[in-house]
Amino acid sequence: QNTLLKVEDLKTCFFTDSGIVASVDGVSFSVNRGETVAIVGESGCGKSVTSLSIMGLLGSSGKIVNGSIRFEGNDLLKLSKKEMRTIRGNNIAMIFQEPLTSLNPVFTVGYQIRETILIHEKISKDAAKQRVIELLKQVGIPHSERIYHSFPHSLSGGMRQRVMIAMAIACRPKLIIADEPTTALDVTIQAQILEILKSLKELNDTTILLITHDLGVVAEVADRVMVMYAGQLVEQSDVFSLFSAPKHPYTLGLLNSTPKIHRLSEQLESIEGSVPNPLQMPVGCRFHPRCPSAMDLCRQSPPPAISMSEREEVKCWLYAETKEAAGG
Ligand code: SF4
Ligand code: MG
Repeated sequence: QNTLLKVEDLKTCFFTDSGIVASVDGVSFSVNRGETVAIVGESGCGKSVTSLSIMGLLGSSGKIVNGSIRFEGNDLLKLSKKEMRTIRGNNIAMIFQEPLTSLNPVFTVGYQIRETILIHEKISKDAAKQRVIELLKQVGIPHSERIYHSFPHSLSGGMRQRVMIAMAIACRPKLIIADEPTTALDVTIQAQILEILKSLKELNDTTILLITHDLGVVAEVADRVMVMYAGQLVEQSDVFSLFSAPKHPYTLGLLNSTPKIHRLSEQLESIEGSVPNPLQMPVGCRFHPRCPSAMDLCRQSPPPAISMSEREEVKCWLYAETKEAAGG
């Protein structure tokens, strides 16, 4: 089986004092083994909620109200809390934006990674320690013996993120979900962390689901990309097509506001307007209030997902017309 993760028609809601918010609303996608797939979009588009839904870490106010999440064919939504804990760490691991909050300040980093291994595997403490030292080396940490005995707060942000990656790969997970793994870091360190993610992909054939607002990061590491807006996927494509021939007006807006990739003119534009309030989603296409190409139809009915090729799908009325004209 080539498909590792298959998400179908996922809908995740939060029950707030002001009403029910559907942060993820009808999202379907799959991730194949060995692939790095990115979910990109502005903050508040539902990227993180998608990843937390997969991990079963929504907290008490969030609930998956529809859809399925299949990992190696098994529906994760049907598993007990205990079974889900086993999946996390063993099969699916997560790397967060701010590693300090995910590391325990009172234990050394070596101890924490070693314990993670010992929870999931029956090996001796010594063997686990050796594995940790190897892992620290693998993520490019110099003097790994010394870092083993260091406390999280004594390390730089970049070192802490390396430690988090070492912890994430400690139990050789099949899928790593990395949520804005480089966002809190400065540019040089960002590049180093991206190199590590790339090496994981090459050496361990790890499958990575990467959550980011940064198309520069996508261009660096992803094979495929899904563009998310207002709780929905608006474009899915391989990375090359996305950058060479973007389809959705929102994708175009993101590209025009990304400095590293923007080559057409010197002037950076930002997408006008802001992400809609999920309690008052626009009728029709959710992007229409910000879309320079909006038509009457867009204000009335939501566009369907239109498949442009085997690997490309776009949710926009502009392409429904061309498909019809072409007899598709
Ligand atoms: Fe713009 Fe209409 Fe396409 Fe929505 S459906 S992105 S409003 S052109
Ligand atoms: Mg986020």
